[in-house]
Amino acid sequence: MGKNYFREAVDRLAGYVPGFQPKVRDFVKLNTNENPYPPSPAVLEAIRAQFDRLRLYPDPTADVAREQVATLHDVAVDNVIIGNGSDELLTLAIRAFVEAGETVSFPEPTYSLYEVLVRIQGAVNRPVPFADDWSLPEALFGNDSPLTFLANPNAPTGTLLPTDAVRKLADSLDGMLLVDEAYADFAETNCMTLATECGNVIVTRSLSKSYSLAGLRVGFAVASAEIIAGLMKIRDSYNVDRLAAAGAAAAIADEAHLEANTGRIRKTRARLTEELAKLGFETLPSQANFVLTRPPGGLPAKDYFDALWERLILVRWFDRDRVRDFVRISIGTDEETDKLLDATREILGTR
Ligand SMILES: *Cc1c(COP(=O)(O)O)cnc(C)c1O
Repeated sequence: MGKNYFREAVDRLAGYVPGFQPKVRDFVKLNTNENPYPPSPAVLEAIRAQFDRLRLYPDPTADVAREQVATLHDVAVDNVIIGNGSDELLTLAIRAFVEAGETVSFPEPTYSLYEVLVRIQGAVNRPVPFADDWSLPEALFGNDSPLTFLANPNAPTGTLLPTDAVRKLADSLDGMLLVDEAYADFAETNCMTLATECGNVIVTRSLSKSYSLAGLRVGFAVASAEIIAGLMKIRDSYNVDRLAAAGAAAAIADEAHLEANTGRIRKTRARLTEELAKLGFETLPSQANFVLTRPPGGLPAKDYFDALWERLILVRWFDRDRVRDFVRISIGTDEETDKLLDATREILGTR
């Protein structure tokens, strides 16, 4: 073995494990919360219009997209930063607020990328288990971390915390609270108002799920102008490419498309939950584009996952406390949902 050139934090790191992306197409893919419907047609048109300008650097701050976010959420352009996916904005927040050796708090189980990003910074994870009813744990309030993450709706549970509970959490903290709202467009309420009302709150959103643009890599954050200015200082100078900025702006401007798209997903979510209940599954109340559900009759979740896999249906199983007995199923089209339900009846019937 030669010399080890890596920082200790990187050397010890087990990297983030994303959901499986099959190279063949015959899978019913319900494992990574992608949207089954196409994005707004205006996105392709906006991207095409950029083709003859690809030799030019993009606008460093992606202002076409910032302006659309500002309009949609009724904030100033100075309250908005665009990211290369909302994942980039999580990284920026850690780099901006957390020294190596300091802690980052979050309720668990949650989005497992947080832990990985914290380790990369050489900082220390402070997971606090959710209460039994998936409400906020007492121990999270008043914690002394410079940064607290809160996914709301949470992943992989799909559960939603009310805005006043999140406001109380923000008020109890000395540090920053980042509310990760990757799934908020599928939910009945959200915390966007806190981003400008509370000085220590950042709200992040993603275009990957509700806007059907996981492949474009765009997210945004809303916060006070001071916080946004600080994040702007540490991002890559051209963090959002020309095609992504134009496509994102067009997507956000098409409010009718978002409404129709998320409406369909919510309807299928209700139907799937109801059909699973008839088969004896226990499903957590979801406000996202997936459900976390426990198979009936003592069928182990991992066995159910494997049996679906054999039938070319991909869902997600997490070998983690509190969710090990469940599988997470992304909401697909009605046709995909029927295939999942047919396969499930077959699996239950052959036991
Ligand atoms: C999908 C997801 C993200 C990442 O979104 P991108 O915009 O694709 O980077 C962030 N947070 C949570 C909780 C997610 O599930």
